[in-house]
Amino acid sequence: MADRRWEIAKSCFPSRLAISQLLSAISSLTGITMTVAPSPAIDWAAVRADFPVLTREVHGKPLIYFDSANTGQKPDAVIATVDDFYRRHNANVSRAVHTLGTEATEAYEGARTKLARFLNVRSDELVLCSGTTFAINLVAYSWALPRLQPGDAIVLTRMEHHANIVPWQLVAQRTGAVIKVAELDELGRLDLDRLYALLTPEVKLLALTHVSNVLGTVNPVREICREARKRGIATLIDGSQAAPHLALDVAAIGCDFYAVTGHKMSGPTGTGALWARREHLEAMPPFIGGGEMIKEVRFEGTVFADGPRRFEAGTPNIAGFAGLGAAVDYLSALGMANIEAREQALLQRFNAALGEVPGLRIFGAAPGKAAVVSFLIEGAHAHDLATLLDLEGVAIRSGHHCAHPLMQHFGVPATCRASLAYYNTFEEIDAFVAALNKVRKLLA
Ligand code: PMP
Repeated sequence: MADRRWEIAKSCFPSRLAISQLLSAISSLTGITMTVAPSPAIDWAAVRADFPVLTREVHGKPLIYFDSANTGQKPDAVIATVDDFYRRHNANVSRAVHTLGTEATEAYEGARTKLARFLNVRSDELVLCSGTTFAINLVAYSWALPRLQPGDAIVLTRMEHHANIVPWQLVAQRTGAVIKVAELDELGRLDLDRLYALLTPEVKLLALTHVSNVLGTVNPVREICREARKRGIATLIDGSQAAPHLALDVAAIGCDFYAVTGHKMSGPTGTGALWARREHLEAMPPFIGGGEMIKEVRFEGTVFADGPRRFEAGTPNIAGFAGLGAAVDYLSALGMANIEAREQALLQRFNAALGEVPGLRIFGAAPGKAAVVSFLIEGAHAHDLATLLDLEGVAIRSGHHCAHPLMQHFGVPATCRASLAYYNTFEEIDAFVAALNKVRKLLA
């Protein structure tokens, strides 16, 4: 019976998350407790087989791809959708009434609808763009620049990616606003008391990451946004590292802006989105001008389009968004709660296996962290380690991870970073640790 109910529900609703949200709304209205039956077990080996790149060899060794925080690998469904778009549907969006034009528009707008559902936001509040970097710049230039004045402040955190630092510095330089920084505790978590103490009346915006791309720390964004809102401070959440790994409910977070990037969500590069509260979108002037973002253009002046389109000038990455729609379908079919549980199981094994490696220093030990592990080995440079690991077929990232202020905090120029995803395996973890021990000895 439960299975039948699930089948019916599945045919009506896009994801288990959406169903859970619906059931919890019904529960709170009626007082009757309702939950979704647990998912049937997922065949993770079959899931992995959906990713063609994971079958290749590097330097004669099976590829171990532990760099998903950098960019995620793409399943066949995404690759085939992009391929099919160019083979059968290629046309520009919104400009043509012919069949291909309509199909291209449907693919593009379909991605907006799917992503909005995935994030649990309204699709007419979701601006499609090239990724988080663009999304944050859009808020910086269109929302913050006209608003901020000398003496105003923006609060950032020590663990931000450069994409959530540099745009604010550029805006601060032009407006006379100042930047304040929330610091971390010894486990790599935000020190919340110190963060809240920074939220003084001159602060107009708090911009922070949901999940750290270096430490894996998952910030309690819901609580933080509530505190900011109490004080009348707008919040921007960089969801680049959250959307690929967590079951998200952006509406429940209570932020003002939420940014995601498609290429980390098993989707194509050059795709992403900014969700903004309607009141902000309506008040924000256009950032980039051109075709598609207007109602009427006269030399005397231009009337701009309403809603997200006002911020989507020019021809977008249509094939990419078709692929992102497929990626969202793929993740939703697996279920983000299942992905999260799978990655936590991988992380547990990874941490246990790393415990056996002598001289290893791990950066970030927040409880409940995501499957991102930054580390150094005593006496070895991060780039040397990563280069030697590549010869073993292992792909990890080494460097500052676009987080210079975090490196300064730890007093190191670089770390190695292994980042896992649901398509990785326990066997890869064992092979990785064996490779790490081998190269460690070479560098000793
Ligand atoms: N923020 C975080 C936390 C990230 O990890 C990244 C990607 N490394 C970005 C922002 C930038 O994303 P994109 O390059 O897709 O704009």
